[in-house]
Amino acid sequence: MHRVNDATVDLREAIFAYARTRLNYEPAPLDNTASPELLWQQAGQTITEDGLGGLEALKIFEQVLAPATISTDHPGYLSFIPCAPTEASKLFDLVVSASGIYGGSWLEGAGAVYAENQVLSWLAKEAGLPAESGGVFVQGGTLGNLSALVAARENYRQQLLKSGQPLPNRFAVACSSEAHSSLKTAARVMDIDLLPIPVAADGRIGHAEVSAMLTTKPSGLFAIVATGGTTNFGIVDRLDEIGQLAKAHNLWFHVDGAYGLAGMLSPLTRNLFAGLELADSFIVDPHKWLFAPFDACALIYRNPEIARAAHAQHGEYLDTLTDSGDFNPSDYAINLTRRPRGLPLWFSLATHGVATYREAVTKNIELAKFARDEIVKRDFLTLVREPELSVVVFERNGWTLADYEAWSDRLLNNQIAFVVPSSHAGRPNARFAIVNPLTSQELIVDILNSMEDK
Ligand SMILES: *Cc1c(COP(=O)(O)O)cnc(C)c1O
Repeated sequence: MHRVNDATVDLREAIFAYARTRLNYEPAPLDNTASPELLWQQAGQTITEDGLGGLEALKIFEQVLAPATISTDHPGYLSFIPCAPTEASKLFDLVVSASGIYGGSWLEGAGAVYAENQVLSWLAKEAGLPAESGGVFVQGGTLGNLSALVAARENYRQQLLKSGQPLPNRFAVACSSEAHSSLKTAARVMDIDLLPIPVAADGRIGHAEVSAMLTTKPSGLFAIVATGGTTNFGIVDRLDEIGQLAKAHNLWFHVDGAYGLAGMLSPLTRNLFAGLELADSFIVDPHKWLFAPFDACALIYRNPEIARAAHAQHGEYLDTLTDSGDFNPSDYAINLTRRPRGLPLWFSLATHGVATYREAVTKNIELAKFARDEIVKRDFLTLVREPELSVVVFERNGWTLADYEAWSDRLLNNQIAFVVPSSHAGRPNARFAIVNPLTSQELIVDILNSMEDK
């Protein structure tokens, strides 16, 4: 075995020191964004023929690049969907990187795949799916939704072929008009039609809305997607009603729970997910509300064999894996080479236990409720909708989009919080997405009070 040289050891220690410093912050600086011009001025050309050397490259990262990236794990990061990984999951992400682990096949990654599969089995069990369910951690919800729908269409196509029925000219998927943009992307990539189902007054789709869509007898329809927590509001569709209709009409039932499905872990919101057990597939992103680092989406199928038939790649150099009969994660989505990205979550779950996760999710929901109460108390604010999970949307009475933007810039520049404006029905608003257990009541109050004056 070779000994590593001194320069490598120096760099290693510098990197560990940097990581240690970053992990020791409570919290880490929120930091900011930057223009390409500013970064060019400060960092310049970093890729050179001879290399800068690791210490110099690290210095540029530390002094220029890192401050120009907003910390998504800061307790004041409340925009979009933040990412608030546990310390254990962050640490284990380092371990995954330090180990040459491949997560695509059982042959090469048995230990890693075993651990990932235990997490997937746990999620499937929480959802009420049978023990044979399974799947894979993919990069994100967009790829998870696409992979699930590709499997669903292939299953439908095979059913038609087997029973000698003609294939439709166009295939179609139906979902709520409030569903995530990634479903439009999936439909475009698959070259299929997306049928938006208008939501009821409460923002949901259920039996009435889906039945109305079905009476139009859409041809080529093979799946219905329900949303298990919309990204804008955290609204959960009526999964039980939709699941039963899907079953009755031989349609694949997919639940997109990228953000909200973690809500099934809390006794406060478990009831919203009744009917999830009927799903043919579902997704949930650990990088959103399961306290794991970017990037990971758990994609789970009721019958993984259907997914394998649709997704397994075949090639001469792969046959030894494909023909083995082993469980190879690559076979269950649009991916081949893959990082075992479920391992940080596995380690953290194994460390803390599931009860800690239930408590953390519950705490986020309670803080959203607290924010709701504080909003209602202030006469300059108006709640847009009652929060259901951990998203709170409200308006500052009388503000234009420009007012929200100026306020948002001020919060970021003062390093208090990152809350970008959102909108609903053409009106600008402010939105908190609360997934960080370190976000405090005091911070919420400070942010709300900062809206009193322009
Ligand atoms: C975020 C989100 C997605 C997309 O997931 P990515 O991980 O960002 O690709 C899909 N659906 C819903 C409901 C989401 O909230």
